Amino acid sequence: MRTSGADGQEQRGFALNQIVAAMLPGPSPLAIDNSAVRCRTLKTSIGCTGVGLHSGAKVTMVLHPAEAGTGIRFRRVDISGGGAIVPAHWSAVHDTRMNSCLRNDDGVVVGTVEHLMAALAGMQIDNCLIEINGPEVPVMDGSAAPFLFLIECAGVVEQATPRQAIKVLKRVTVQDGDRIASLTPSSGFSVRFEIDFASSAISRQEFFVNLSRGTFKSEISRARTFGFEQDVAALRAHGLARGGSLDNAVVIDSTGTRVLNDDGLRYGDEFVRHKVLDAVGDLYLAGAPLIGHFHGVRSGHALNNQLLRALFADQTAWTLTTVQPGSAAAPFTAAPLRMVANG
Ligand SMILES: [Zn+2]
Repeated sequence: MRTSGADGQEQRGFALNQIVAAMLPGPSPLAIDNSAVRCRTLKTSIGCTGVGLHSGAKVTMVLHPAEAGTGIRFRRVDISGGGAIVPAHWSAVHDTRMNSCLRNDDGVVVGTVEHLMAALAGMQIDNCLIEINGPEVPVMDGSAAPFLFLIECAGVVEQATPRQAIKVLKRVTVQDGDRIASLTPSSGFSVRFEIDFASSAISRQEFFVNLSRGTFKSEISRARTFGFEQDVAALRAHGLARGGSLDNAVVIDSTGTRVLNDDGLRYGDEFVRHKVLDAVGDLYLAGAPLIGHFHGVRSGHALNNQLLRALFADQTAWTLTTVQPGSAAAPFTAAPLRMVANG
């Protein structure tokens, strides 16, 4: 098991010319008490264009600052009548085949939200309105790194409202055959993941990470989605992976022994790290950061969502709590931002 350390390979640059800062005015800096952990949103709007991994659709997406208390929401701007809001919430997940796809009460969908959600979790963004003109979040390079970069470019501001988290109070487990996912009480937010593939290019991998400040970016964010060459035709026949390519996924050859990407892997155990990334994104659909330990064994989007449904079905299994400054129980918590006048 490895708990830290990348393989030292340089990150492949994502297309900077894809990233368009909309530079709309953000919320005014607030006179706040820096001793408290506050909700966070973006300082300005920022956007990107790309293709959907499964739909293959070209989409433009713009992340906007949002009022405290509104959470993470998508707005399909291509839907007539002023756009349709789709909440980034576990209860709106309706399709978990190869991605986490949201659907609102009117049947409007936003697919493959998990990598963006992971970046929002890693950057501790509580409130954000994401405008998108198609059915699926762009896959970019297949990881969360381009979204992290976008958020860093836009900047982050604290809001007046204290940050709240969901504290796990007792063990919750869901199982599907040899797939298991569980949440247990913990002082912070940590993830352990185990995978075991017949492919010798992956085989058995295990990874543990304590998601304190900075670890998501350094340990997890660059890990790309992956797939097998022999599955591509079948996936495409089912309307999946139509936008997939070696530019946005690690692909393993038909013998299961070799990575087809010229540049190889970004981390020696990139596969299991990507499963951690997916879990972080799926779990952020809880609606707030979790204080607890997640353990996944061959888990995926379906089981991750079932785990949240099981957690929230038992009102004695969780409680909403205000994140305490400097506490070990402050998931992802960064030091309070230093507020600068007009900045
Ligand atoms: Zn993924």
